[in-house]
Amino acid sequence: MKMLPFVSLSVLVLAVSCGALPRRPDPDRFMYNEGMLGGDIAGGYIRTTVDGKTAILPDDDYGLWTDAIIYYEVHSSAEYPCVETGIILHRCWSYVGMYKFGPQDLSIQIPGCDYKGIILHETMHAAGFFHEHTRFDRDDYVIIHWDNIMPGTESNFDIVTLTESQEFGVPYDFESIMHYHLDAFSSNGEDTIEPYGVWAGTDPGNAADQDFFAQSDIDELNALYCSKK
Ligand SMILES: [Zn+2]
Repeated sequence: MKMLPFVSLSVLVLAVSCGALPRRPDPDRFMYNEGMLGGDIAGGYIRTTVDGKTAILPDDDYGLWTDAIIYYEVHSSAEYPCVETGIILHRCWSYVGMYKFGPQDLSIQIPGCDYKGIILHETMHAAGFFHEHTRFDRDDYVIIHWDNIMPGTESNFDIVTLTESQEFGVPYDFESIMHYHLDAFSSNGEDTIEPYGVWAGTDPGNAADQDFFAQSDIDELNALYCSKK
């Protein structure tokens, strides 16, 4: 059994740095799983009880990790020797928060999801965070081009409500590891997300291209887990 203390985020980065596999041309497609919220959030419960959150509010089934530690072990089917990268299932996805009644899966398929950025992104989901571009104030920073979104995937852009969320005063961050790229879920190759104002003209890229937490991600992790220490 391994553990990831949030008070020492460098442990996570080091854990996923071992080994090197050839990069795939389109890794983000592994993050789009049909039927999952946002493409990579497992748990049908989210569709009925949550519109979207900056960070999870604990409920009967999912909550925060005890003592800010994520315990994990590698699934027995894992074949790649860099076992610290996580449980290997199929494609890239995670539940949000800690399941209170037993083990939960975090899928890092190799090859396809073996990028530091994707592992950071999925682990951040497991810690309790949703996508940056669905947070409550997203319309103050980006325009969503609904006509360019693949039919049937519009719910992945549903705005966050504060009714069921908690936020920490950390400003919207286009460079967050939890922000999808400009043409996420595009049906026609055109952008679905357009930044304006302070973020106009910038491109967040995709998680695979960003192998580090943004400072805002670290601030929110610390606010969620370490503010009372
Ligand atoms: Zn995600």
